[in-house]
Amino acid sequence: MTHHQIIIVGGGNAGLSVASKLLLKNKRLDIAIVEPSEKHYYQPAWTLVGAGTFNIADTEKDEVNYIPKQAKWIKDAAATFDPDNNALTCASGAKYSYAVLIVVPGIQLDWGNIAGLKETLGKNDVTSNYLFKTAPYTWELVKNFKGGTAVFTNPPTPVKCGGAPHKIMWLACDYWRKQGILDKCNVHFISGGSILFGVEEYRKTLQEKADEYGVHIHLKQNVTRIDGPGHNIYYKNNDGSNMEEAMHFDMLHVVPPQSAPDVVKTSPLADPSTPLGWIEVDKHTFQHTRFKNVFSCGDVCNAPASRTGAAIRKQAPVMVEHIMAYLNGTTSKASYDGYSACPIPTQYGKLMLAEFDYSNKPKMTFPINQAKPRWTMWLLKKFVLPWLYWNKILQGKA
Ligand SMILES: Cc1cc2nc3c(=O)[nH]c(=O)nc-3n(C[C@H](O)[C@H](O)[C@H](O)COP(=O)(O)OP(=O)(O)OC[C@H]3O[C@@H](n4cnc5c(N)ncnc54)[C@H](O)[C@@H]3O)c2cc1C
Repeated sequence: MTHHQIIIVGGGNAGLSVASKLLLKNKRLDIAIVEPSEKHYYQPAWTLVGAGTFNIADTEKDEVNYIPKQAKWIKDAAATFDPDNNALTCASGAKYSYAVLIVVPGIQLDWGNIAGLKETLGKNDVTSNYLFKTAPYTWELVKNFKGGTAVFTNPPTPVKCGGAPHKIMWLACDYWRKQGILDKCNVHFISGGSILFGVEEYRKTLQEKADEYGVHIHLKQNVTRIDGPGHNIYYKNNDGSNMEEAMHFDMLHVVPPQSAPDVVKTSPLADPSTPLGWIEVDKHTFQHTRFKNVFSCGDVCNAPASRTGAAIRKQAPVMVEHIMAYLNGTTSKASYDGYSACPIPTQYGKLMLAEFDYSNKPKMTFPINQAKPRWTMWLLKKFVLPWLYWNKILQGKA
């Protein structure tokens, strides 16, 4: 059994920002990062890749270049957690013990929960921006669409970036409008949610866009199965009814149901009140509610915030304060208010930067009405945020 003072499971957005921030506080901390992937992805740009306005190659970089120099990289996947004994085991069988554990392995995409989806994803006009390998296929489909029925889905579970299931729809509609074919496009949004967007001020803007583009919105509908070769999607009302409806599609963009990774779900760290298995933390401090030397933030924890990198930017500094306080035997008053942001492009060159907190009320950074889509916000998403991510956020400096 190898010991480290701090073990971080997951070297994604949260893992690397938190590791860097801790080392900025004290460069002598003994930190190990358990991360199996050689590559690191800037996932927020996959929406723009699907719309043909961002190079997919620029969303992938070598993990090795972003692991902080003073941290040790354990190139392995966590397989089991034993928090009663401050220990974990990796897929290779290696065992580790720790003083503090930070669990941030992100969210799991449950493709298998929709029958027929795995078999057809990436072909038969079925795509998803939620994967590096299929985001470019979205653009192939949007670009080559000649009219017909285009379907975009959103699952009933929480997802990473709540806006991403429909962001690509607004861009596709704008593209088809520019090609002069929008009147030949029958566009449907099939969503497991009960509302198009949870914050009223931003919802209104999106409803206006839906009306402008002629999008048919179907709420509280769960996709049950997809027949790729037959080009049919099946869904039911999530009020428990058994009546399945079918829709023929000529193009389909799917977002799968999502949950905590199975290794977390089946561990003592999971919140027992939900089958989705999120890690049970205090939503203001990110300290585990039962295991006080365990912390978690980002997509995998049960804080009821919208799961985004923007949320992690505000969560990471608060969590780091509480970890340092735990290590020093003191307490911290730092508190996270549920801040998250969702940059929603409503057309090429215009974007609504939706910012809000746990109260689901707007929490705007700029002294302008952010419910109005703007060119400046589009520039922020396309150029400023990717640069900030690779050069400042992962280094714990923003
Ligand atoms: C299409 C799309 C659009 C998005 N748009 C936006 C946006 O506009 N704005 C925004 O702020 N956010 C956006 N997001 C969300 C954002 O990417 C995530 O919220 C963010 O990456 C979550 O960070 P994380 O560290 O929790 O998880 P991730 O960044 O996903 O990292 C998890 C890491 O854990 C590793 N891991 C998994 N299992 C294990 C294991 N067993 N052991 C060890 N390591 C493991 C993975 O390899 C990965 O490196 C978008 C996401 C998608 C997919």
